[in-house]
Amino acid sequence: MEGSNPEKVIAVLRSDPSRWLCDDCIAHLAGIKNRIAVNPIATTLGLTSDFDRQRSECSRCRETKFVTRPRRH
Ligand SMILES: [Zn+2]
Repeated sequence: MEGSNPEKVIAVLRSDPSRWLCDDCIAHLAGIKNRIAVNPIATTLGLTSDFDRQRSECSRCRETKFVTRPRRH
């Protein structure tokens, strides 16, 4: 996948808006090797009106963590 890390994170999240994803799964799906880099990106997105972020079950790994998904408009 091309682009900066924030672009990759947004592309992964928007690829399935019904899915909550934790930072680890976002990193995996986006092909970002440094998973720690995803945390501030996802946290920042969660503060915007375009994304929701909360502590709940990840739709992919089923662990309860902070998860992010696009907000429906
Ligand atoms: Zn996960």
